[in-house]
Amino acid sequence: MESQSNYQMKAVNGDFGYVLEDVPHLTDYIADLPTYPNPLRSNSAYSVVKQYFVHVDDSVPQKIVVHRDTPRGVHFRRAGPRQKVYFSSDEVQACIVTCGGLCPGINTVIREIVHSLDYMYGVKDVLGIDGGFRGFYSKNTVTLTPKTTNDIHKRGGTILGTSRGGHDTMKIVDSIQDRGINQVYIIGGDGTQKGAAVIYEEIRRRNLKVAVAGIPKTIDNDIPVIDKSFGFDTAVEEAQRAINAAHVEAQSAENGIGVVKLMGRYSGYIAMYATLASRDVDCCLIPESPFYLKGKGGLFEYTEKKLKENGHMVIVIAEGAGQELLAAECQNAKNEQDASGNKLLEDVGFWLSERIKGHFAKLQKMPITLKYIDPTYMIRAIPSNASDNVNCTLLAQSAVHGAMAGYTGFTVGLVNGRHTYIPFNRINERRNKVVITDRMWARLLSSTSQPSFLGPKDAEKAETEQVPLTPMVDDGENHEGEKT
Ligand code: ATP
Ligand code: MG
Repeated sequence: MESQSNYQMKAVNGDFGYVLEDVPHLTDYIADLPTYPNPLRSNSAYSVVKQYFVHVDDSVPQKIVVHRDTPRGVHFRRAGPRQKVYFSSDEVQACIVTCGGLCPGINTVIREIVHSLDYMYGVKDVLGIDGGFRGFYSKNTVTLTPKTTNDIHKRGGTILGTSRGGHDTMKIVDSIQDRGINQVYIIGGDGTQKGAAVIYEEIRRRNLKVAVAGIPKTIDNDIPVIDKSFGFDTAVEEAQRAINAAHVEAQSAENGIGVVKLMGRYSGYIAMYATLASRDVDCCLIPESPFYLKGKGGLFEYTEKKLKENGHMVIVIAEGAGQELLAAECQNAKNEQDASGNKLLEDVGFWLSERIKGHFAKLQKMPITLKYIDPTYMIRAIPSNASDNVNCTLLAQSAVHGAMAGYTGFTVGLVNGRHTYIPFNRINERRNKVVITDRMWARLLSSTSQPSFLGPKDAEKAETEQVPLTPMVDDGENHEGEKT
């Protein structure tokens, strides 16, 4: 395996015309590492599987549709068990840490890493790091066994606890070194994967035989390259309950309006899929698609039209949508950050509800009843559903196979329906967003019949400037905006 720097491992395959975005391997910086036959060979459960081991050269294309005039694109290394492993079972001292916000399925991933290490590779020493990255140097560890983790997938949250901030690379790697840990499994979102990349770099700088594997966690599905992140299906499913409640409320009142705020700081996937799944939503607002309130083609006009047609309306808004409108109106916006440096968003659902109420109050001829539902924390806290549980299990198994095979500095993820190893830099370089010029968003627009809001932006800008600049006041009726 050739490498110029840690991540410049792109091997151009001239014969087949694709580029392999490879992940680092311990042998890139540690010479003459001994190998061992994969213990799965002697496991009777696997002996019946034809071609159970993944060939070292197997790769998965990022794009399945290849045009005649475009190159065959980027491939990623296929995940799965290898014939040879670089750790003997009794030398492995693994640890698992969870960081960032909650997401359905974290406990399933923890459980499956522990179970896979034990049942597939005979690894008995697995530590849980308490309370995120800072737990490496400021808290105690817990011993994780198949027995103690047996039922945790039925619970939401993370049994290990989580936190933001506190990423002190040197202290974390010192702790890894001092404890004799040689496999680090890191479950978390974009910030966590950046933290994992830095830990990997420092481990490599110290020439330690330590494999670092990331399992990407983002309920928003905003991690690039991968098909879908775990917890997303569960979130979409649970969001249906909130949308259904909003619909029932709206239907039961004269000119009833239900507003539901869903997760999606930068990417509106949950709002988009929940809308497509529900069929009760009349308007879906996401961060990628700017909207405006007043004037022709604006949200107020559309709301009036829907109320006249149906007598009720349901609006779904992602938490990151319309933040620029809100910022323009609220001079007193706090502009705060959390401990990890993420910007805290204003509660756009509450703001939108107030603005709609204000509009119809001014109109006088159409009294409305508006109910605002913010189910975000309830959605994050539930255990994962069946499909996410399967997804979590396979991600955990892939991570374990990868670390045992000596790969490091990688994230596991589904690419084109196949499990792969993806270098950290590919995961961290950008955010996956809904493309509003793609077919999926067009499908949503035709499903809800909402306006695209593309067009008279200049008119809206002028209108926004006329809006009185008042801070938002919480009347106690509504839930607080998501602040973590
Ligand atoms: P989510 O967005 O789903 O809540 P996240 O992983 O992005 O999850 P953050 O709070 O942003 O959550 O980050 C989690 C951890 O990663 C924190 O401990 C934070 O200090 C660390 N971290 C974030 N960004 C970086 C970075 N660029 N370098 C090193 N560590 C980072
Ligand atoms: Mg994040």
